[in-house]
Amino acid sequence: MRDQRQFYINGTWCDPVEGQDLEVIDPSTEDPCAVISLGGTADVDKAVASAKAALPGWMHSDPAERLALVERILTEYKARAEDMAQAISLEMGAPIDMARSSQVTSGTWHINNFITAFAHIRFDEPLRDDTPEDRIIREAVGVCALITPWNWPMNQVSLKVIPALLAGCTMVLKPSEIAPLSGMVWAEILHAAGTPKGVFNLVNGDGAGVGTQLSGHRDVDMVSFTGSTRAGIAISKNAADTLKRVHLELGGKGANLIFADADEKAVKRGAVHCFSNSGQSCNAPTRMLVQREIYDSAIETAREVAEGTAVGPASASGRHIGPVVSQAQYDKIQGLIEVGIKEGARLVAGGLGRPEGVNRGFFVRPTVFADVTNDMTIAREEIFGPVLSIIPFETEDEAVRIANDTVYGLTNYVQSQDGARRNRLARQLRAGMIEMNGRSRSAGSPFGGMKQSGNGREGGVWGIEDFLEVKAVAGWDSTAG
Ligand code: NAD
Repeated sequence: MRDQRQFYINGTWCDPVEGQDLEVIDPSTEDPCAVISLGGTADVDKAVASAKAALPGWMHSDPAERLALVERILTEYKARAEDMAQAISLEMGAPIDMARSSQVTSGTWHINNFITAFAHIRFDEPLRDDTPEDRIIREAVGVCALITPWNWPMNQVSLKVIPALLAGCTMVLKPSEIAPLSGMVWAEILHAAGTPKGVFNLVNGDGAGVGTQLSGHRDVDMVSFTGSTRAGIAISKNAADTLKRVHLELGGKGANLIFADADEKAVKRGAVHCFSNSGQSCNAPTRMLVQREIYDSAIETAREVAEGTAVGPASASGRHIGPVVSQAQYDKIQGLIEVGIKEGARLVAGGLGRPEGVNRGFFVRPTVFADVTNDMTIAREEIFGPVLSIIPFETEDEAVRIANDTVYGLTNYVQSQDGARRNRLARQLRAGMIEMNGRSRSAGSPFGGMKQSGNGREGGVWGIEDFLEVKAVAGWDSTAG
């Protein structure tokens, strides 16, 4: 079992001041695979003090120096890709091939995209050409607490750490205690890339401990959080006393509107997307809204996809899906499948219990419910497992009403050959992202939600600007440089 009890503070690995052991569980076997420490107030204070001490030097450093660091991080990240894939696969159950091809590469993608976006950030410019004595300066928000979940660990960590570094912020990262191993490889990467002491710090811990201490800390200027809406609310309340900036990327309940004129692969694509990463993606299209004319055939296709989706251990090669992350997550999903049946949804594939022949590991059967109504629990709650709910509709207006009838607003999907309809829907759907006909968003596009899906935008110039303050200066001497 790996011993990973240390934290990375002020440029060095150190023992916790008040650590408490926590076993990391391999979700494929239910066996412990590593032990980490959950830190306490003294560890948080030490990490925040280190970030605070490093702030003046880093925020006033030459932006070119920060860019050069991020380029070195990219090189190190690529060199450690296999270690990273193994860590992610072990800690959260992504099948190893998927960990290599999607989980790790999501980090590479974001780092590259931030390097491109950085060229568009103006740290210092006149307000207008006719106001040479008015200057707009963009400067780092300050010391940031970055709190991340377990489902796409490097996607989330790179989306926060890289723009914070580029903006000139210093930081304390608290990865999910359920999947902390990749975060520690990440800290090794930043160390090897030559990140100046104190600029990046890592403390492991849980939400009630380190998470809460960070969000309430008087020397933390901003919390950037990705995780559940429940925790986002708790963090906002706890951060209110110090009025720090709070950036939230929260849950979702994506609607996928499939019209009768959709391309023939639309249903299959939607079901595969819903089950991928074992359903553990905030932007998963979990509510499939299908126009009545193609409703029966869509149910049949979704059933075929579910029954054709193999489930297997994370360490095995192949295109299967892995277990869900934990016993708690497994129990929650089972409970929601049971509620779906009780509330009268029609179970078309999958259902309760582990897949046939499996008696260990947090494996869930890919499940499809039809005849779901939008007031049922399975249509309202984020399940975070491989469970698809199919809801029929007759008209475009009805589809929009159902899609928007949710507390969430992260990603919605539209499948139709009618371009005018697609554009209409892109305007009417209340979500931070709309993806249509299987097109995913291009490099540099902002990721984020509306309503209870959060208020932040990650990626591209928006992702860097979220870590910047805008300062307005009058009386600037434009001849003085
Ligand atoms: P979670 O909210 O339980 O935990 C996320 C992180 O927050 C962990 O590091 C945890 O220790 C910490 N935390 C928990 N309670 C806290 C508190 N009160 N104060 C401070 N920190 C606290 O979420 P999870 O189960 O790890 O992740 C799944 C959730 O994340 C889902 O709801 C999913 O939709 C969401 N998510 C959203 C996005 C997005 O960009 N919108 C991306 C990925 C995941």
